[in-house]
Parts: sequence; structure tokens; C-alpha cells
Amino acid sequence: MKKVVIIGCGASGMMAAIAAAREGAEVTVLESGRKPGRKLLLTGNSRCNLTNLDPELFERYGISEDPALKTDDAKTGFVKKVLEQFSVSDTLRLFEECGLLTAAEHGTWIYPVTGRSESVLGVLLRELQRLHVKLKYNTEVTGIDREDHTWKVHTEGWTYSCDTVVLCCGSRAVPSTGSNGSGYELCRGLGMDVTDILPALTAMQCRLPEDCRPFTDKEKDKENAAYPLSCAAGTRTIADVRVYADGELLAEERGQVQFTQNGISGIVIFNMSRYTVRALRMGMDVQVSLDLLPEISREELISTLSRLRKLRPDDTLKELLTGILPPGLITLIASDNDLYRAGYLIKDFRLQALGVRDFDNCQVCAGGVNLEELDPDTMECRREDLKGVHVAGELADIDGPCGGYNLQWAWSSGYVAGRHAALS
Ligand SMILES: Cc1cc2nc3c(=O)[nH]c(=O)nc-3n(C[C@H](O)[C@H](O)[C@H](O)COP(=O)(O)OP(=O)(O)OC[C@H]3O[C@@H](n4cnc5c(N)ncnc54)[C@H](O)[C@@H]3O)c2cc1C
Repeated sequence: MKKVVIIGCGASGMMAAIAAAREGAEVTVLESGRKPGRKLLLTGNSRCNLTNLDPELFERYGISEDPALKTDDAKTGFVKKVLEQFSVSDTLRLFEECGLLTAAEHGTWIYPVTGRSESVLGVLLRELQRLHVKLKYNTEVTGIDREDHTWKVHTEGWTYSCDTVVLCCGSRAVPSTGSNGSGYELCRGLGMDVTDILPALTAMQCRLPEDCRPFTDKEKDKENAAYPLSCAAGTRTIADVRVYADGELLAEERGQVQFTQNGISGIVIFNMSRYTVRALRMGMDVQVSLDLLPEISREELISTLSRLRKLRPDDTLKELLTGILPPGLITLIASDNDLYRAGYLIKDFRLQALGVRDFDNCQVCAGGVNLEELDPDTMECRREDLKGVHVAGELADIDGPCGGYNLQWAWSSGYVAGRHAALS
């Protein structure tokens, strides 16, 4: 019977263990934490958005490291090969067989009907139990090497011998969940190339351009002049968001933007952070443009404001905007009484991107094991001296947007890696 050791009991590790055990392998999962699936429990605000029915699923992962190229077809092709072997339907079927009922929200976003991530973890653990998978907690893997045809997986107290290993150690996002980046070190220790690791799916830090200063009729606003965006902190509004790097449009999406003390947040901003962090790493000038009234053209807006001004000549611009923008944004937009300038600012409110939040505050990492190291048919390392070593989940250089894409990658890559670890 083939012996498979899986490192990490997160989403991809549990799926790899199920796939390997279903192929008849003797499977042991080594997990550094006291409990399994700590990150899985946090997902989707503890509701677990486990996948997405998006018909263009593959395209969402294919983001280029070089912002000038925008898309990376090789990455899209890699994901496609893996997801075609274990698709969204296969994933939903497996969860259904395990007794999980799911439902769609926002059209395509899939959640368990219980609205609780612990239901997802619960059914996976029951399936692992049914398949007699051995789970070892408080067991951090510190190194991997090979003696003849046997892989040796070292922990502080023990060395596990096996035919194949699947590395499912996650990224560096939210290290308190156990994914503290040690997986990258294990891969580097084996000689694999690991690309730069950056926080992604997170809020952005921004500043206002010099020519846009807030309306300062109150003491509070005067104090805030040094941190102008804080005037709008807490404001939420629907906007069309566009990210430009060195003047070139990188990505655009409509959604709810939330203003923070020093920047912007919200799902749409998390998605844009994947592009921003890569462009900033290349030293590019990154600007975020917010269209704060996306349903109205600039011409319509300016003519509406002009009409209002004629009707209410004694009103200040700030007063005219009362029924048009949330109060926090009026403070930012109406820095003078210039109606045309306000019209331009509302339709193209520019922010200078300074950075994104850190690894403690991101949902995934951009970067990971270089895809050239891996065979998408098996998730096994291509190099002859690493035959029998497989990689799955976020540890590989794949990241997707919000909406269940990252868990889908974990399920699919985990399943493919586990299955082939048992078969190879
Ligand atoms: C707050 C938050 C919300 C999210 N919401 C969603 C969502 O709704 N939908 C979605 O698709 N994605 C979501 N994600 C992303 C998603 O959770 C991850 O992409 C996914 O969990 C990655 O799975 P993984 O198996 O690769 O890694 P992980 O789930 O991180 O599992 C890795 C495991 O390996 C263990 N480990 C690490 N190193 C070692 C070692 N050396 N030895 C032994 N064990 C080790 C860790 O303790 C951990 O248990 C969210 C992420 C966060 C942080």
C-alpha cells in the first residue's frame, strides 16, 4: 500500500488526504497547529464562500507579474488544467456526498446552507475519519529529504517515511492560523524556486493628490488636513474603481468602496489590491480612480449641478451636494465652490496608492512556488530528483479574487495532488 504524507491540515491538505485515501493509499496528515482548518473557519466571515459558479473562472487567476502585460495566459492555462481534472461540479458533488448542502448568493457565490464554515470543516473531518486518515496535530514539519526511494519528513520528535509527500502548508496570510510561511522554506530547502511573496486581497493605503484638499470649515476638518482621507473614514459608497500603473489601465470593477483612516477597503478594493501590490513592487506609479456616481455621465452631473445652482443660488457647493453624495465625501470633494471641478472629481476621484496592508491583514498571498516547477497534470515537481513531491493550495504561485476562487484552487489542486501522490 502506498504511503502518503500530507503536510498541513488546511483546505488543500484535507482535500489531498481524501483523494489519496480514496485511491487506497495509507495517508498521514501532519499539522503544526493544535486543530485542523483554522483558516478555513475564518473564511467568508466564518460563513465559508467555498466556490463560485462563474463561467469565466479560469481567467480570474491569470494575472501577470509584469503589470504591462496585464494577463498571464500560462497561469490561466495551468489553473485550467488543474480545475478541469477536479472541477467546481466535482467539488460540489464531493461535498454533497459528504452531506454538505450548499446554496448560491449574489448569483454565483456558493456557501453552505448552514451559513457556517464549521459545517464545511465538519464534513471534511468526518470523511477523513471514514477513510482512516491519520491526523497528527502539534506536529510541525522542519525538513524533508530522501534516502534511496523513500521520502523522509522530519518533525521535532519523529521522522515519517513515505513514498510520496504533498506540501499543503498555505501562504503567509494571517500567520496566526498556522500558515506562517514555513512551507516556502521547506520548498526552498528542496531546491524549488519560490517567487516573491506579497500580501493580496487586502485594503489599500492611499493619499489624496496635492491639489485636492478637504473642505475645512470645522476645527475637526482642519485637524484632519494632514490626513485628509480620514474626513471620509467610515463612508461607504458604490463606485467604479480603476487602477492605473504608470498611466495604463490595469483593472476595473464596480463595487462598494469603504473609506478608512488612511485609504480604501471593501471587496472591490481587495480585488484591485492584487494588481496594485504587483505594480508597486515594480516601482510603478499606481493611481486609483473612483467614479463616485457611476450611473450618471460627467455631462449629466455638471448640468444637474448647474441647474441646482440656478434654483438655489444662495447654497454653497457643499449644500448643493447634500442630496447627491454621502457627507464624508462632500467634505473631500467640495474643497472650494467650483462646480465644474467638483463634477470632474466626482467622476474621477484620484488617489495615489502608497501600499497595501500587511500579511496579518490580507486574505491570500500573491507569489509562491514557481509554476514552472510543477506539472499541472499531477501537481508533482517536474525535477527528476523531486519525483514524489507534490505541492497544492496557496503554497503554489496562484491567487484569485474574492468570491470562493481561492478555496476552489485549494480544493482542485489538493485533489489532483493527493490523487496522483497515491497513484504515482
Ligand atoms: C480572513 C480570510 C477569509 C477568507 N475567505 C475566503 C472565502 O470566503 N473564500 C475563498 O475562496 N477563500 C477565502 N480565503 C482564502 C482561503 O482561506 C485560502 O486561500 C485557503 O484556505 C488556502 O488553503 P491552503 O490549504 O493552501 O492553506 P491553509 O488553509 O492556510 O492551510 C495550511 C495549513 O498548513 C499548516 N502548516 C503550515 N506549515 C506547516 C508545517 N511546516 N508543518 C505542518 N503544518 C504546517 C498550517 O497550520 C495550516 O493548517 C480567506 C482567507 C482569509 C485569511
